[in-house]
Amino acid sequence: MEFQNTPEFARGLDAQDKLASFRDEFHTLKDKVYLCGNSLGLLPKAARAAVEQEFADWQELGVEGHFEGKNPWFHYHKFLTNGTAHVVGALPHEVVVMNNLTTNLHLMMVTFYRPTQTRYKIIMECSAFPSDQYAMETQVRHHGFNPDDAIVEVFPREGEYTLRTEDIINVIHSHGDSVALVMFGGVNYYTGQAFDMPAIVVAAHENGAYAGFDLAHAAGNIYLKLHDWNADFACWCTYKYLNSGPGGTSGVFIHERNATDVTLPRFGGWWGYEESTRFQMKKGFKPSATAQGWQLSNAQVFPMAIHKASLEIMERAGMQNLRAKSELLTAYLEYVLEDANTQNEFVIITPTNAPERGCQLSLLFKANGKGMFNRLLENNIIADWREPNVIRLSPVPLYNAFEEIWKVGQAFKV
Ligand SMILES: *Cc1c(COP(=O)(O)O)cnc(C)c1O
Repeated sequence: MEFQNTPEFARGLDAQDKLASFRDEFHTLKDKVYLCGNSLGLLPKAARAAVEQEFADWQELGVEGHFEGKNPWFHYHKFLTNGTAHVVGALPHEVVVMNNLTTNLHLMMVTFYRPTQTRYKIIMECSAFPSDQYAMETQVRHHGFNPDDAIVEVFPREGEYTLRTEDIINVIHSHGDSVALVMFGGVNYYTGQAFDMPAIVVAAHENGAYAGFDLAHAAGNIYLKLHDWNADFACWCTYKYLNSGPGGTSGVFIHERNATDVTLPRFGGWWGYEESTRFQMKKGFKPSATAQGWQLSNAQVFPMAIHKASLEIMERAGMQNLRAKSELLTAYLEYVLEDANTQNEFVIITPTNAPERGCQLSLLFKANGKGMFNRLLENNIIADWREPNVIRLSPVPLYNAFEEIWKVGQAFKV
């Protein structure tokens, strides 16, 4: 599409946008352009009523809310199953919502990182999100290995900012039989690069390793097909592109090949127990032969109520439609930014090629990026600042409009 940097053109795109009405389902910030959905998605209007429903049932039913409530708490996690499966491209019995992201990463490591003297390495992207780095580092130490030896990071080539798939694959092959786990982001939080997950899975499996993904910046952002891609497991938080509130709960995918294998080691709790006999309260842990077999505790109803409302919106919009709008919205942002960048003040380090990115663009400034960040703030544009010199902008297809993107471009023009 031939873009134009005019408000009329942007409004024209909004007029043709089949998802435009979804913006009204969110509390957008008064007079502000919000481009921080990669950090905390906006509040869906339906979330309040969803939480109120659970307050009402608790108030009126007490403990009986577990079975007598409108949405019985006993099964609450199951209300999230279909929406979650839709968002990540999974079969229903491959997903569960529980805990928080870093907690779930550790729980997955219990099952999928069981190093031996010869097979103990974890291959990761360089500069992964700090929590992931700390989780991997402490897991490696927990098993008595040295992170400097056991954690292998893949780096960009000299003068480049993002990773080439061939380099990722080559690093996996070069460590061969010593690789226990390949653990990658779906979309890197800093550069916005979307990795070639199917290719990473193939390379990991060819070397007898597991392949796991942190989808914090991918879930609800890019089109995922975790089942078909054959990933072993994945985890994500729900407060970024899934709009489920600060500190919200987390999703987990475990491929059915693993989920149905009740012999896989794990940490157990009563909610992971095989469901039909759970309340016989017998000795001896017998896991459910689904992803639910990794649950520990009964459902966190309040954060899950928000997530339920939020997933219903995602399902109604449809991930394929969201992705189609997202590609156009992001390309338009890229276009207005390049149009404003006549002095080459910054480079967009996020890949230009649509399949290699989600909706986030990361701008690396040569100098004084903070000055530009402050200018955006003065123009009521909420962006995200990362030391030392990066501004991240994430137009979200559910609630951002093309006209807002045009405004952002204007703010960048000196
Ligand atoms: C946002 C994010 C986290 C945050 O972890 P929590 O456990 O939810 O605090 C972890 N990893 C990645 C890659 C993230 O983007």
